[in-house]
Amino acid sequence: MKVIDRSDLDALIEELIASDPRDVVGVQEDGEQYVFDHLESADELTLDYDLTALSPKKYVMPQRETLLTYDRTDDEYEMRAEADPTGHIVVGVHPYDLAAIEHLDKIFIDTLQDEPYRRKRENSVLIGVTMQDVADNCFAASMGTATVDSGYDLMVTDLGDTFAVDIGTFEGDRLLESTKTRNATAEEIERVAEIEADLKDGFDRELAFPPAELPTLLEASYDDMDFWEDYAEQCLSCGTCNVVCPTCFCFSVDMVRDLDGDSGRQERRWDGCLLEDFATVAQGENFREEVAQRHRHRFMRKGWYIYERYGDVACVGCGRCTRHCVADVADPCEVYNELREAQHA
Ligand code: SF4
Ligand code: SF4
Repeated sequence: MKVIDRSDLDALIEELIASDPRDVVGVQEDGEQYVFDHLESADELTLDYDLTALSPKKYVMPQRETLLTYDRTDDEYEMRAEADPTGHIVVGVHPYDLAAIEHLDKIFIDTLQDEPYRRKRENSVLIGVTMQDVADNCFAASMGTATVDSGYDLMVTDLGDTFAVDIGTFEGDRLLESTKTRNATAEEIERVAEIEADLKDGFDRELAFPPAELPTLLEASYDDMDFWEDYAEQCLSCGTCNVVCPTCFCFSVDMVRDLDGDSGRQERRWDGCLLEDFATVAQGENFREEVAQRHRHRFMRKGWYIYERYGDVACVGCGRCTRHCVADVADPCEVYNELREAQHA
């Protein structure tokens, strides 16, 4: 572990902004919320935030991206792969968002072998930060994502005038090459461990049982339509809980034809299983026409289906869905705890 002065960390970020061809983005205040956005200077960066509106997922899986373009001449189509492979340098990522990106890597790189995602991901740098402020909706400690030991190139922990820096990859090591650092002392390493241990006690909310029990609980709750209908009664099918979630990865692909009819593009954009038409297929058949079915599907997918397929619970406990749901019915911690209580009543 290394230690870097606060001013030298700022200088490193300024250097990256000035000389790295990739866009340097980081957490900034935006009115009453925090967002990941382009950094003009290190002064704009905020590392003691609680929760950003959207996660840094948007830099490896953009809300909308062109995958290919095509032209037609006579009866021949010429297609060109267009997805932008440029990565970002992302500064200030909380551990639960790093865990979410590792989960997406498993899906898009290891399983789907999705080239547009892989190239953006491999060209990106993730600089994590140990949480200093815990959002009131967050239950990351219950999901094992309040701290992580992988998924970052560098991980910084605020020690006051200095930051402890854990180097996670060769790329992270290379970033520090021209920066003044020193080896951390035994006391500083111990201080980081204490900060991480204290952090786990700082959560107001917790899942009342181990997440590994979710698949069994959810399977047993599948047919409890009274429960799902009751919850879904207030749901507006707005899809916000999908959009803000760092682990939701559903997308739709559209062919967009230009007005000349001979050229166009293929676009991928985020989709969400709470939206009414998400499960609509040819001839208008909708597999989840009722809001309660969509609502149940989201919770089943997070805690059961994805676990069975990929070995991960697809919720890192960030709390974004809870914070942003205007109907206050999107909270996995509350839903799972209620289901568990009902099962043990
Ligand atoms: S649960 Fe909340 S955020 Fe999600 S679709 Fe329903 S109203 Fe919107
Ligand atoms: S389901 Fe909600 S709490 Fe869980 S990762 Fe997604 S947004 Fe965060």
